[in-house]
Amino acid sequence: MRGKAPPPQINYMIDPFGRHISYLRVSVTDRCDLRCVYCMAEDMTFLPKREVLSLEELERLCGAFIELGVRKIRLTGGEPLVRRDVMALVDALGRRIGPAEGAEGLEELTLTTNGTQLAKYAEGLVRAGVRRVNVSLDTLDAAGFRAATRFGDVEKVKAGIFAARDAGLHVKINAVALRGLNEHEFDAMLAWCGQHGFDLCLIETMPMGEVAEDRTDRYISLEVVRARLRLNWTLTESAYATGGPARYFDVAETGTRIGFITPLSHNFCESCNRVRLTCTGTLYMCLGQDDAADLRAPLRQGLRDEPLKAAIREAILRKPKGHDFVIERARPAAVARHMSVTGG
Ligand code: SAM
Ligand code: SF4
Repeated sequence: MRGKAPPPQINYMIDPFGRHISYLRVSVTDRCDLRCVYCMAEDMTFLPKREVLSLEELERLCGAFIELGVRKIRLTGGEPLVRRDVMALVDALGRRIGPAEGAEGLEELTLTTNGTQLAKYAEGLVRAGVRRVNVSLDTLDAAGFRAATRFGDVEKVKAGIFAARDAGLHVKINAVALRGLNEHEFDAMLAWCGQHGFDLCLIETMPMGEVAEDRTDRYISLEVVRARLRLNWTLTESAYATGGPARYFDVAETGTRIGFITPLSHNFCESCNRVRLTCTGTLYMCLGQDDAADLRAPLRQGLRDEPLKAAIREAILRKPKGHDFVIERARPAAVARHMSVTGG
């Protein structure tokens, strides 16, 4: 007699709150060539290299997630483009875009970068199958940029952005709204982005990791920023969505869009579809909570992916309902690890 057929492989992940987990963000390194004041301490110590997964291990981990239903992967960091040979990982993941062997594959591979290395990598990214990149740029002003990043050169980032556009990448500019740093610049940034065909996305500063300054002093509610922008721009709520937490508005005067990511003034956790993997193989089910699952041990248990997939499934069942960010609790930080560890 034939044995019972095995149960069909379920290749999607649903968390306890019914959210379909289809988006993985991977911090490929905790290192960076800038030191943004709200992100890192000036004297950050980075992980010893021996603790960091190899690019092959990261690729295998991503492969397991894809087989479990992840359709979008964003590489981030730290600065993803400062990891040595990172293009080997980008190329390998790019080959997983589209259906393979009868199974659904990856739909999108993207990157969040500070742009300093984009001029060097833009064409390679396109060849690998990347179509969109998010570039972080908090101010267009050279002195302001140096103050925000401690030593960055804004012209290098702008050159990277234009190289990305010229290579055919769709560029979105991300800016963290910071009192005393860029709060009077959003009209100018929106105009600049409009002139060059870039969408702009503003982000509220989140209390993650100890940095030199008090984030409470820097925090601006984006509800207020949007109201101010409306004095000069016609903003119409847009149906556009990238699978991320931003709420988008069409800007009539530029034909581009502006998005607002408001974890503090408007919590968006109910539609969260993502989990975050660090370069040590730790999986965080929420950016704003400490619970995590170690995937490095099951990854290294052998060449079979089953223990790894079981560990991923178990972790998804622990995904919390939401974060507890409150700006009044910014000191000490609501979450001890820095954004560069989990990836923004
Ligand atoms: N280095 C890359 C970059 O800057 O785009 C990728 C990593 S960075 C951690 C990703 C994003 O997180 C950036 O847009 C950055 O501005 C944002 N970020 C970092 N720390 C933050 C914080 N405390 N609150 C809000 N956004 C933050
Ligand atoms: Fe580096 Fe990005 Fe953090 Fe700035 S925000 S210090 S560029 S990781």
